[in-house]
Amino acid sequence: KLFNMVQDLKGNIRVYCRIRPSFQAESKNIIDFIGEDGSLFILDPSKTLKDGRKLFQFNRVFGPKAGQDEVFKDTQPLIRSVMDGYNVCIFAYGQTGSGKTYTMSGPSGGTSKDMGINYLALNDLFRMSNDRKDIMTYDIYVQMVEIYNEQVRDLLAEDKTDNKLEIRSCNDDGLSLPDATLRPVTSTTDVLTLMKLGEVNRAVSSTALNNRSSRSHSVLTVHVHGKDTSRNTIRSCLHLVDLAGSERVDKSEVTGERLKEAQFINKSLSCLGDVITALAQKNSHIPYRNSKLTLLLQDSLGGHAKTLMFAHVSPEADSFGETTSTLKFAQRVS
Ligand code: ADP
Ligand code: MG
Repeated sequence: KLFNMVQDLKGNIRVYCRIRPSFQAESKNIIDFIGEDGSLFILDPSKTLKDGRKLFQFNRVFGPKAGQDEVFKDTQPLIRSVMDGYNVCIFAYGQTGSGKTYTMSGPSGGTSKDMGINYLALNDLFRMSNDRKDIMTYDIYVQMVEIYNEQVRDLLAEDKTDNKLEIRSCNDDGLSLPDATLRPVTSTTDVLTLMKLGEVNRAVSSTALNNRSSRSHSVLTVHVHGKDTSRNTIRSCLHLVDLAGSERVDKSEVTGERLKEAQFINKSLSCLGDVITALAQKNSHIPYRNSKLTLLLQDSLGGHAKTLMFAHVSPEADSFGETTSTLKFAQRVS
């Protein structure tokens, strides 16, 4: 309780941890205890129970058995506040393979079962828009971009060879991407179609043989424009961000393009951490300009905006190092 009060004082930043199921039955599980109060004990596999236990504290921890609905239930109030005019950012952070895309989009293959937050959030926005139709009229638009090597690209652009975007300060609302393709959506079917298109475009623009999706940040932005019967308007947006994998690469093993990618990722993730930490500490200077990601999201981070970070971890012993560094990062911003 006291912890939650402290959290409230810190403003609108929440951090959840999600642990995916183990895929290696033989592997030692490093998850020791998950508390109802958001505490998480992990166990260093190379040490004894007495020496190797470490405590982390979050707003909530979702264990391997937590389903998409359970996770969404705790996210829903944030989505609803978008309809009331708040800007919201939801981030999925963690090493590659820890479940970021599962939380945001759902299982690979895109079946309609176990859909992630992106789909459930839009579904909720459409439902609320319908519920309020006698008092408010809402228009909902979707935009989808990726940030790769500090370059923003439009994933919904018609012309896939010319999809680079510049972040510009276009009006009093702050910074944005005035040239990004903005598609009106009226149903979850529309959204699914666009999400698929975005995924295809992401793969097309990929240069390396390796799947690039784990090395770029993808940002799905939902713009909500509302108008009530006396012509008062609200404008807000919801950013749903599937971050690049946070794993450290061994500098001695990578060179060239791969090293450059890794350096861009490290830099932008640490900038994000710095911005959220500065906001939580209510610093007067917030270093938004240090990365494209934070610059792009500037008007939705801080002020009255609400932020939720999901820290994803794997339960297996061989991920212990990365898991610890993810938990440390997340604890720093919470
Ligand atoms: P990331 O996006 O962080 O690289 P993924 O979301 O692709 O990781 O997850 C890696 C694999 O684990 C995928 O096959 C995914 O479907 C599965 N997975 C991740 N989280 C869960 C979960 N909570 N429950 C069931 N399967 C999961
Ligand atoms: Mg992914």
